[in-house]
Amino acid sequence: MSTPFEIPEEVSRITKTLKNAGFESYLVGGCVRDLFLGKTPKDWDVTTNAGPEEIIKLFPKTFYENDYGTVGVVNEDTENDSLKVIEVTPYRKEGKYTDNRRPDTVSFDATLDEDLNRRDFTINAIALDVEDNKVIDPFSGRKDIQEGVIKTVGKPEDRFEEDSLRILRSVRIHAELGFIIDPSTEKAIVYDAHLLKNIAKERIRDEFIRIIMSSSPMEGMLTMRKFGLIEHTIPHLAKTFDVKQNQAHSYDVWTHLLKSLQHAADKKLALHIRLSALFHDIAKPDTRRLSKDKQEWTFYGHEVVGERVTRETLKDLRFPNDIIEKVSKLVRWHMFFSDTEQITLSAVRRLISNVGQENVWDLIDVRMCDRIGTGRPKESPYRLRKYKSMIEEVMRDPVSVGMLKIDGKKIMEVTDLPAGPKVGYILHALLEEALENPSINTQAKLAKKAKELAILEESELKVLGEKGKKKKENEEEIKIKQIRKKHWVE
Ligand code: ATP
Ligand code: MG
Repeated sequence: MSTPFEIPEEVSRITKTLKNAGFESYLVGGCVRDLFLGKTPKDWDVTTNAGPEEIIKLFPKTFYENDYGTVGVVNEDTENDSLKVIEVTPYRKEGKYTDNRRPDTVSFDATLDEDLNRRDFTINAIALDVEDNKVIDPFSGRKDIQEGVIKTVGKPEDRFEEDSLRILRSVRIHAELGFIIDPSTEKAIVYDAHLLKNIAKERIRDEFIRIIMSSSPMEGMLTMRKFGLIEHTIPHLAKTFDVKQNQAHSYDVWTHLLKSLQHAADKKLALHIRLSALFHDIAKPDTRRLSKDKQEWTFYGHEVVGERVTRETLKDLRFPNDIIEKVSKLVRWHMFFSDTEQITLSAVRRLISNVGQENVWDLIDVRMCDRIGTGRPKESPYRLRKYKSMIEEVMRDPVSVGMLKIDGKKIMEVTDLPAGPKVGYILHALLEEALENPSINTQAKLAKKAKELAILEESELKVLGEKGKKKKENEEEIKIKQIRKKHWVE
């Protein structure tokens, strides 16, 4: 009897092929855990007693995934990204670990039990035989899935000392699935937290990304703090713990940052916005001073220092350059003016040129997270909506002769007119026509029209040109009205 779970054809084709060739083959790890949870797996892992060379021979297109014998089997004719490559890994057992990250030796003459034994958590150490509906669950992972518990396979200290990344994986699974961490596993995490310093930054980064991209990043970060992991992963952030702010803030800096991050997650915003929400006040502890009258804390320049600290932090975690640039820019400019009474279009223009056109709407998102993270009830009050409206006004395509598919030089060429006011009048007269009837905005049609206009007297042309200018102003006004209406700031 085959398994009652819905297994994509691209996956069962692989387990079947291995079996037909006389090998054992099982789904294993996160995908089995997710099936028992009723969730669609993010990726599918197959384990087998076939060796790497034997696996490769059975499938038309494969490649080596890593140094551990994992073969990527390519499914070329699938639309679904999670099925394009299925990882098939031979059963393996691992030798001693001496560096807290990698086994000194790996051997492939292992049994399924030995393979499950090397896996991190009981919930990730279940194998499922799809064709025979057989579940191999030596560590009662199914019970832990049911109870929502993260527990290491074997003695937690040993497992974290072998590969300390598992510490962060447990927090990631906690944030993603809401499972609790078993007390003895937790105790070992706290004890071994410092070993994270031996782990490659890229691996830390990937788990950190998963934590902040989960639906509960605040809970994930609070757990990291509780376990003493922040100091060993994002040390600068640890400085924000319990840093009191002035009276406008009900939360300390750390809590404010987490609440901002959580709002970004609630709104399903992208990674770079979540990072900006988390880091925007990271340098407040470095810039905190008592005000002159000693009544209040001040944080002048925290956004300038914050840009530098953010850059260093993301670089240290080996984030790609485009993310580093975007996030540090957003942190640098997050304090943009928000008092509408005094903001002017030219101030808005300056901001856009500072943060970049491509980032300005992200900056607004960061501001909204910042507001909610401060405990304000509204993410976008009148002032911010007004600001958005002004940004859109500044960024819109202006209604101008520049929109025409012809310019003054071309007009002079086709009409033989010399440079002078007549050319300007013609351009405006053409603009009026094009606004009325956009289909004439081609070079050929405009050139023809320009020739007809060129024979008119300068005084007649002037009247037409003025009409064009008036029309242009009306159109501008309509456009701006529409923008304001959209942002509810009429
Ligand atoms: P997801 O697919 O949702 O990211 P996952 O648990 O499948 O979660 P993967 O990184 O895909 O995570 O790993 C697949 C499986 O490999 C895990 O379920 C676990 O059995 C095993 N595994 C991964 N990393 C480790 C590790 N550092 N130590 C021990 N076993 C691991
Ligand atoms: Mg997986």
